[in-house]
Amino acid sequence: MIVHVAALALLSTAAGGGGETGEAAGAGVARRFERRVVAVAAAEALDGRRDAIENELRALRLEPQRRPFAGPQREGTNLLAVVPPPAAGAAPERTLMLGAHLDRVEAGTGAVDNAGGCAAVLELLGRFQARPLTHHRVVGLWFDQEEQGLLGSRAFVEAAGDPAAPGAAAGLPDLFVNFDVFAYGDTLWAHHPSEDDRTAARNFVAGTAAAGGEPFPTVIGPLYPPSDHRPFAAVRETAEPGSPAAEMTVLSLSLLPREQIVETVAFLEAMEGGGRPTRAGLPKILALIHTANDTPSAVRPSEAAAAIDAVEAGLRALDAAAGAEAAPATDDETND
Ligand SMILES: [Zn+2]
Repeated sequence: MIVHVAALALLSTAAGGGGETGEAAGAGVARRFERRVVAVAAAEALDGRRDAIENELRALRLEPQRRPFAGPQREGTNLLAVVPPPAAGAAPERTLMLGAHLDRVEAGTGAVDNAGGCAAVLELLGRFQARPLTHHRVVGLWFDQEEQGLLGSRAFVEAAGDPAAPGAAAGLPDLFVNFDVFAYGDTLWAHHPSEDDRTAARNFVAGTAAAGGEPFPTVIGPLYPPSDHRPFAAVRETAEPGSPAAEMTVLSLSLLPREQIVETVAFLEAMEGGGRPTRAGLPKILALIHTANDTPSAVRPSEAAAAIDAVEAGLRALDAAAGAEAAPATDDETND
């Protein structure tokens, strides 16, 4: 993979004549993605992973904020970073939160699961800082203790609902997008927890076309392994109808080869039907994560870079759609 990225850079240097071509920009993104994955995955223990993300945030001139919480076994610490709104113009009222868990299990180095997701959120934060969204302010979240049962995201959602809670954050977002297992592959897996989120998932995929002429290959679906989107979807279920929490949109994104997504969906269907998992019957991706093989060498930075371009375009489409929703009310007022 490193060879592949280097080859891309060479190619574009040979073809280039000044100015950053799309290819050169892509190689730059891939190198940055790889550097961040390695920094997080190589770090000692969980504190080191968090420190690595904080260093990357400071390099982006974004201020990392720690949100400690009391886990059942030990204290955990979520990380949060707000992209400041541009100095000119009114700050957007809506909030887009991009989240990824930063912790890992004992085996391996947690590169695919989930240093890749952490790196994807960092890259997108940098892009929305450079070219802000119109209708959403953007917040990055890196959750602790996902592997212990989504504890960090649960604590975050609980604190967001209670302004007096320690570590109370920025409230709940209008749109939450989770990134888990986002490190290699040609296809996005866009999970929508509820039917209401399906429209957003479709608009997101249609919007990815802006990055390359055709929508990015994506599998949209309601079946997906547990991850940090779940506490957000759960709090929505119990929210007062019409309240901001009840109106929240929730998605989770993975990047994988298409056949591995199809295989995993079939596996999840079998499990829902009462099947018992066996080591031999595990889908490829589930046989890779949480093992000694989950290291940076499993990551394909150039594939992740291409997918991040698509995700950025898809999120910009959702941002534009949020503006379109608000437009009729403005028209009514001005037509009076
Ligand atoms: Zn994970």
